Amino acid sequence: MSEEIFKKVVSHSKEYGFVFPSSEIYDGLGAIYDYGQNGVELKNNIRQYWWKSMVNLHDNIVGLDSAIFMHPKVWKASGHVDGFSDPMIDNKDSKKRYRADNLLEERIAKYEKDGKTNKAEELQAAMDKAILDNDLPALKALIEQHEIACPVSGTRTWTDVRQFNLMYKTQMGALAEDAEDVYLRPETAQGIFVNFLNVQKTGRMKIPFGIAQTGKAFRNEVVARGFIMRMREFEQMEMQFFVRPGTEMEWYTHWKEQRLKWHNALGANPANYRFHDHVKLAHYANAAVDIEYKFPIGFREVEGIHSRTDFDLSQHQQFSGKKLQYFDPEVNQNYIPYVVETSIGLDRMFLLTMCESFKEEQVQNGEQTETRTVLNLPPALAPVKLAVFPLVKKDGLPEMARTIISDLKYEINCQYEEKDSIGKRYRRHDAIGTPFCITIDYESLQDESVTIRHRDTMTQERVKIAALKDLILPKVSMTELLKKLG
Ligand code: ATP
Repeated sequence: MSEEIFKKVVSHSKEYGFVFPSSEIYDGLGAIYDYGQNGVELKNNIRQYWWKSMVNLHDNIVGLDSAIFMHPKVWKASGHVDGFSDPMIDNKDSKKRYRADNLLEERIAKYEKDGKTNKAEELQAAMDKAILDNDLPALKALIEQHEIACPVSGTRTWTDVRQFNLMYKTQMGALAEDAEDVYLRPETAQGIFVNFLNVQKTGRMKIPFGIAQTGKAFRNEVVARGFIMRMREFEQMEMQFFVRPGTEMEWYTHWKEQRLKWHNALGANPANYRFHDHVKLAHYANAAVDIEYKFPIGFREVEGIHSRTDFDLSQHQQFSGKKLQYFDPEVNQNYIPYVVETSIGLDRMFLLTMCESFKEEQVQNGEQTETRTVLNLPPALAPVKLAVFPLVKKDGLPEMARTIISDLKYEINCQYEEKDSIGKRYRRHDAIGTPFCITIDYESLQDESVTIRHRDTMTQERVKIAALKDLILPKVSMTELLKKLG
């Protein structure tokens, strides 16, 4: 059933111009997607909500836009060249490759669904231990013991488990012999670390302070499934917060709370969120937690909050030979700051927003009951805030509609629609989550009023054109959403 809902969200995203498979006329490209006319608006609004909440609402957080290509030594220093890999296993019959931990997680979920809680817990503990010990043969043994078969071939003839690096490599330089290997960044964070001193010095930043950036990241995910949940090219929104060593756990708790507050302000059902502490900490972390959301296909990570110690800055200091220290006048000491990071996938947040707001409701239309598909998006995130309909395409009504749009368009994203019946126009805008629609009729020419229709309640009221802005703007503005964060 839930899988069905997920499929509906995927097809709705395509049908209404939110997300298209990349190069679709060539049958698409694995796990790469494009955002359509409505998708790009929604994505920009989510990004803006994040950016403003981080950069504009904090006087000690500033932004950055670093390049995708970086010096190859960056990835040596960060540990990505040697350690950014997933445990993979191939099925010999189907030749399909899987992440060993994902196969086991799916089995655990199945045990839980079948009420076999003990078995689920036992397998979870054994898998956690194998991952913690980096014991690849033990992972394979678990796959065999639990008789996990390849979903494609149905057989259980597996290769050994091996590590597979996820970074994309390319060459820089015109001549093959001089060309240097460079990587497409697998995370935006390293661009922040290598600019730490540039920003600190030129911005005269005092610890604690943060640097935020949004941008593309690339990972050669072997198993890229679940629509835009796991892509090979995606966007991250990351903030690295530099703190005095020893204070990192306070800041870790602080950012954990702040980030959940950011999610909750969007009005999703709080029961759909949970924290998941990491069992196996990454090589750079001394504490890590995921914020997970209950997608129709189950709980999945949307955001990570990591206490990264001084690992990254120390590594870059060592590999570059440049000092990356901060003089703290309050304690009269030089030190390499510790870092607490918040890292959220913009595309996953987009998917979360689509899943949370996608609704199919039974509504009465005269004698008949029909299904209404509506995206009850938080109004500040909606691609279009106000749809403007002239009742007919003549007698001055379109002109009046255009005049209203001209007045409002600088502050409110409006869309003009004159095709089809008003009912059909409502349905189209319900499907893309437009919070308000107004209809201009013959009476409007006399009384300077229009009928406004509210997306969620479908109620209609008559309002003066002059009052539209004051009625709509507070409900759709990003400012009001941001004010909820206090
Ligand atoms: P996962 O365990 O799902 O692979 P991760 O722990 O490797 O994710 P991080 O490196 O912490 O992810 O990246 C931070 C965020 O970036 C994730 O919480 C997720 O929202 C997003 N993200 C990571 N990988 C992808 C991907 N392949 N496609 C889309 N978003 C991603």
